[in-house]
Amino acid sequence: MQADFRGSTALITGGTRGIGRAIAEAFAEAGANVAFTYRSSTDTASALVEAFEEQGTEALALQGDVADLEAAQAHVDATLERWDTLDVLVNNAGITRDGLMLRMKEADWDAVLDTNLKGTFNFCKAAYPTMMRQQQGSIINISSVVGTTGNAGQTNYAASKAGIIGFSKSLAKELGSRNVTVNVVAPGYVQTDMTEELDEETRESLLDTIPLDRLAEPDEVANAVLFLASPAATYVTGHVLHVNGGLAM
Ligand code: NDP
Repeated sequence: MQADFRGSTALITGGTRGIGRAIAEAFAEAGANVAFTYRSSTDTASALVEAFEEQGTEALALQGDVADLEAAQAHVDATLERWDTLDVLVNNAGITRDGLMLRMKEADWDAVLDTNLKGTFNFCKAAYPTMMRQQQGSIINISSVVGTTGNAGQTNYAASKAGIIGFSKSLAKELGSRNVTVNVVAPGYVQTDMTEELDEETRESLLDTIPLDRLAEPDEVANAVLFLASPAATYVTGHVLHVNGGLAM
């Protein structure tokens, strides 16, 4: 079932690559106007806008660091200026700076928390008044399986992803009476640049722990996001939807 998002506007952070790109493409295919942010891949962003426009999707690429609240506000404002409405916000931009706690630098902690958790706060804060006024909206925040299971070597990343879950449940309680839903998608391991960094040995031992015996494709995560933003999920809020091939249950 393909939901119809014609007339709706979706803003996706980190839309140039991997999961965010698949989410942006899925909303475009479903007829939404698509705004997406990125940090540095300007050429990719321009090419993506061109591709969207060729297929009849109105698209807007916005460059900036999600950790910067002023930039987040500017991105939300630019989206509203273009389409007057913001129906779906997907906080997807995220990074890893892995290492055992013993050797983890303060800068690695800060970069991951600032991008993943504060970035999510920033865009929700910027979109909050609009969605509240509209009395309608869906916010979907991308966490990770390790936000619930923990993972050695990822104290910073797991903390940021667990933080996103607590943050989202709290925001769901704040915004529920305004008909705004806030949900989380928690992917397992997905075939993107982020997991390209895994060496072959790690990848093999990982596969042994995944009942579906493969990594996810980005569009399998995008499908879950579209469901949560769709009219099929109007009574779902504060939920964590795991898309992890059975890795943790
Ligand atoms: P990628 O590294 O493939 O892409 C990251 C995207 O986020 C890019 O578009 C990048 O922009 C953007 N981005 C990164 N940092 C910033 C920033 N500070 N400001 C603005 N944009 C930024 O990531 P994935 O697609 O693999 O991951 C997407 C999300 O899914 C992340 O939150 C990640 O934690 C989560 N996730 C991923 C899993 C996986 O296995 N891949 C598993 C579980 C969760 P640019 O191209 O300009 O650098």
